[in-house]
Amino acid sequence: MISSLSPHILHRDYAAHLDKLDPLARFRNEFYLPLTEQGGIQNYFCGHSLGLQPKRTANLMSEELQRWQQKGVAGHFTGIRPWLSYHEQLTPVLAELCGALPVEVVAMNSLSVNLQLLLISFYRPTEQRYKILIEANAFASDRYAVSAQLKLHGHDPQHDLIEIRPRPGEQLIRTEDLLEVIDREGHRIATVLLPGVQYLTGQLFDMETITERAQQQGCIVGFDLAHAIGNVPLQLHAWNVDFAVWCSYKYLNSGPGAIGGAFVHERYAQDFTRPRLSGWWGHEKHSRFNMPHEFMPLPGAEGWQLSNPSIFACAPLLSSLEIFKQAGLPALRSKSIQLTGYLTTLLAAQCPQIQIITPASTQERGCQLSLRLPLSAHHAKRIYDQLLCQGVVCDWREPDIIRAAPVPLYNTFQDVWHLVQSLEGLLQ
Ligand SMILES: *Cc1c(COP(=O)(O)O)cnc(C)c1O
Repeated sequence: MISSLSPHILHRDYAAHLDKLDPLARFRNEFYLPLTEQGGIQNYFCGHSLGLQPKRTANLMSEELQRWQQKGVAGHFTGIRPWLSYHEQLTPVLAELCGALPVEVVAMNSLSVNLQLLLISFYRPTEQRYKILIEANAFASDRYAVSAQLKLHGHDPQHDLIEIRPRPGEQLIRTEDLLEVIDREGHRIATVLLPGVQYLTGQLFDMETITERAQQQGCIVGFDLAHAIGNVPLQLHAWNVDFAVWCSYKYLNSGPGAIGGAFVHERYAQDFTRPRLSGWWGHEKHSRFNMPHEFMPLPGAEGWQLSNPSIFACAPLLSSLEIFKQAGLPALRSKSIQLTGYLTTLLAAQCPQIQIITPASTQERGCQLSLRLPLSAHHAKRIYDQLLCQGVVCDWREPDIIRAAPVPLYNTFQDVWHLVQSLEGLLQ
């Protein structure tokens, strides 16, 4: 797209030109854009924390409120979307986003709950093999989850949690270092849990290579896809990933606390020997309502369900997935690479003093860039606050990181242009 750094690409007209050429431009109008206190439109770069509300969500929600109002309990069985099987409509697009077979995915609970549920099944320590590998900067909930699981089995996170960290003076984890730890410690590691995209740095991990190497060492491999699903292409089935979990309120735009999801590889679909926590919704459909004493799990990821899901949590996800289906992830990814690439180009030209922590290679990042300002933490925070005052909504991570995610479904090249003008002005 941007072949040479001619001055006109720094001009607003060029951003407007890119927006005109954008085949996905119409999708912005599918979303409500939040307003500033002065009533203007926010320049929103927080899709990594909370995706925006699709306009069609309210319709699907009110459909279900009405059905409940007018049909009562019969809503479970009647209408075009009976509640009994409502969550099954989420499966095809989720499977597509994950690069998975339908039997491998399910929408249920929320991320941390799903992580605990799957660790019960996929962290099975033995005397020889009992450690868990995570990254040192893992999201707190992931760390709490694996620590709790270690303790549940009588192990001590102090000794049995292996943490991979960036080299001194570096921000990112090198794949070679990760593979080295796996080769060296793999025979003691029961389970590897890593992010698809690291929440703080925006680093996209090489899930295929990591999975292959860890499985050669006999480890089980799981991924936390909170920042990956709906952001980067995934091929969980082909990569042979054992399990994965995600939430749907970030890039999947399904609202605060939205229903999460889980992936379990097909090879476990009929494996009912692995211990699991169970509830009636994971029980075989045909006999579920006969309430048999013996639990017979559904094949695949659905067999990990416990409760019947909230329809009012499923409806927003369904409406959002319709948009993903229309736009298509390949097209979204293609725009995303352009949009984030445009941000790096403008930053390099206009704010060269800002350090971009996120990898420069498009293979190693999604849409998010993590920026470190060349200022004391105090002054960096003030820049962030002033951005907010100007209606530019990014996210602040202590001690000095601003995370900005241009989201291809609703952000424009002009949004990105404005962000950089604001940053440049504030840094002067
Ligand atoms: C957002 C996020 C979570 C959130 O967990 P919930 O259970 O949905 O509250 C967990 N892990 C990671 C890596 C995240 O980015």
